[in-house]
Amino acid sequence: MTDCIFCKIVAGQIPCKKVYEDEELLAFHDIHPWAPVHVLIVPKAHIESHADLTDAHAQLAGRMMVLAPQLMKQLGVSGGFRTVINTGRDGGQEVMHLHMHVMGGPRPWSKG
Ligand code: 5GP
Ligand code: ZN
Repeated sequence: MTDCIFCKIVAGQIPCKKVYEDEELLAFHDIHPWAPVHVLIVPKAHIESHADLTDAHAQLAGRMMVLAPQLMKQLGVSGGFRTVINTGRDGGQEVMHLHMHVMGGPRPWSKG
């Protein structure tokens, strides 16, 4: 997956503003934030999109979901947040490595 931007970030070949890391997940600030706080949660393994998840990924997917509110709390977001997963061309997915957007902070936001 040498052309995948998020695999390169996971491998440390492209820098990121990291907010969380464990054996299977990485979270970092989006380079073009839509909201005062905008992070991306990605699996370290290259999974192309939400459409590629199988039963074998259930725990991993659940951990992404559970991590989102923990990160918002850690980053001082107290008024709620939005989670978004864009999937495939029609879903508006631009980076073809599964990622969950987690956005929060006071309105107005630049987008969303
Ligand atoms: P998508 O449209 O695929 O759901 O969202 C991809 C997101 O990745 C966009 O919000 C974009 O700003 C972010 N992004 C793309 N390239 C980079 C990068 O090199 N570093 C970081 N931190 N975010 C990126
Ligand atoms: Zn990848």
